[in-house]
Amino acid sequence: MIRVVVTGVAGRMGQRLAALTIEGEGLELVGGVEAPGHEAVGSPLSALVSGGEAAGDVVDDLEMVIGGADVVIAFTAPAATVEHAAVCARHGSAMVVGTTGMSADQLAEFNRAVKPIACVFAPNFSTAMNVLFKLVEEAAGILGDDYDVEVVEAHHRHKVDAPSGTALRLAEGAAQGLRRNLAEVVVHGREGAVGERTRKEIGMHALRLGDVAGDHSVYFGASGEYLELRHHASSRDAFAVGAIRAVRYVVGAEPGLYDMGDVLALR
Ligand code: NAD
Repeated sequence: MIRVVVTGVAGRMGQRLAALTIEGEGLELVGGVEAPGHEAVGSPLSALVSGGEAAGDVVDDLEMVIGGADVVIAFTAPAATVEHAAVCARHGSAMVVGTTGMSADQLAEFNRAVKPIACVFAPNFSTAMNVLFKLVEEAAGILGDDYDVEVVEAHHRHKVDAPSGTALRLAEGAAQGLRRNLAEVVVHGREGAVGERTRKEIGMHALRLGDVAGDHSVYFGASGEYLELRHHASSRDAFAVGAIRAVRYVVGAEPGLYDMGDVLALR
């Protein structure tokens, strides 16, 4: 049995991840963690995830449940994830991390913390999206500098970071295919007298509305035509199923940082 702890277990992703863990063959949900002060803390874990066996209550400190865990799934918030990475490293538990929106400093600290353990860290766990990452880089390389690149994403109104980690990854892929440094060419939104579009810029745009689980389009536009490569997530299951796949991959993997390209053997 692979023993799994889910942090952010009362969150949108956390609840699906806990449910799929309970349903998953060879997986056991051994703990759920929430933020200190969250209303779910102290309530039975099984109350959050109907239809399966889950012992114990939701706790507010990963240290309380990590002892029994082979792997911790973390889809929470940047500061919490960095903290949880250090706890996992101390206890030798593997990690599957989907949290987005880390600052450069948080990312550096996270990368340092997970060095001794196996960790899959991906801005998007959907299989089709990971195929799109590859396609965008290839398309950018083939189309070259004659095509303007713009990335547009849409997410539900509760999302707290923008642009999405996935949109950034798509833009990085396009930049890589075009041999550009994204930080030097990225333009976030446009407003006012910004002047003509420069040939090398990569535009990023974030929509926030309703309950959209995740929409991403990458446009390549030239005179007379444009190509749109689009991914549409109709539910969070696309991410949750991928994260569970990553759980099976990461347990027993050598220490190191992996992404979904490794899990799906897309390299
Ligand atoms: P959410 O707000 O519904 O859930 C996050 C949960 O984390 C909340 O319940 C919150 O209380 C909890 N949390 C915060 N601090 C905590 C702490 N210290 N300890 C334990 N729990 C804590 O958000 P969501 O929609 O589930 O998304 C969570 C994260 O996952 C976001 O960063 C989002 O962008 C990312 N995400 C990634 C993917 C992917 O495929 N990589 C897919 C969807 C969402």
